[in-house]
Amino acid sequence: MRKKIVAGNWKMNLLHSDAIRLFSEIENQQVSEDVIRIVFPPCIYISDLIKSAKNVLVGAQNFYPKENGAYTGEVSINQLKDIGVNHVLIGHSERRMFFNETNEFLKEKVDAAIHLGMHVIFCCGESLEVRDTNNHESFVINQLNSSLYHLTSDQLKLVTIAYEPIWAIGTGRTATSQQAEEMHSHIRKSVLERYGNESADSISILYGGSCNPSNAKELFSCSNVDGGLIGGASLKADDFFSISTAY
Ligand code: PEP
Repeated sequence: MRKKIVAGNWKMNLLHSDAIRLFSEIENQQVSEDVIRIVFPPCIYISDLIKSAKNVLVGAQNFYPKENGAYTGEVSINQLKDIGVNHVLIGHSERRMFFNETNEFLKEKVDAAIHLGMHVIFCCGESLEVRDTNNHESFVINQLNSSLYHLTSDQLKLVTIAYEPIWAIGTGRTATSQQAEEMHSHIRKSVLERYGNESADSISILYGGSCNPSNAKELFSCSNVDGGLIGGASLKADDFFSISTAY
């Protein structure tokens, strides 16, 4: 019942022609139909990519949780929905760190997205400081409690959780499969306690943080890891293919 998902977060990378080329390469890859692939390009490329999307879903890295109005420079969830976007990333550590997105603000984003029936990949994860003091499990559960676990079990069906330890993002230092499995099973247990068996058995939990072709197989073989949220390696078609076929 749990979906296998490989999602590529392109962040603020690629010029238009590179983005079109990369997307077409990924579109043409032969990957099992069991694996859902989603890419999150820079916002200005979404419309173009969506028009040519057949096998790969196109999501948005960000939005502002108001319907419309005087919010210069922002894009609303309604505008994304209107151009065919059905998947959004919320809670990425770079948005928490560089754009001061708090747990409370992320809750607003979750509500705005779920209200429109959007699928949400909700990111959580601790810093090295928190892990070193052995508070990583309670830290991550607090992030989920604060921004996500107010949803009903029906609403939670639209959510995928991505565990992304901050110390592993873009650093080349991947969590070991044991560290990933420990946290993923802890997260699943928290879903079980809050929502019950059905939700815990069906929610997908992705790992993110320097996931690449050489470690994806081991990570994806963990019983509570359902796929990956991929940054750097999603910018190379061959690497993204290797990861998408690493189950
Ligand atoms: C990310 O930013 O979500 C990510 C996982 O990045 P990377 O794979 O580059 O560590």
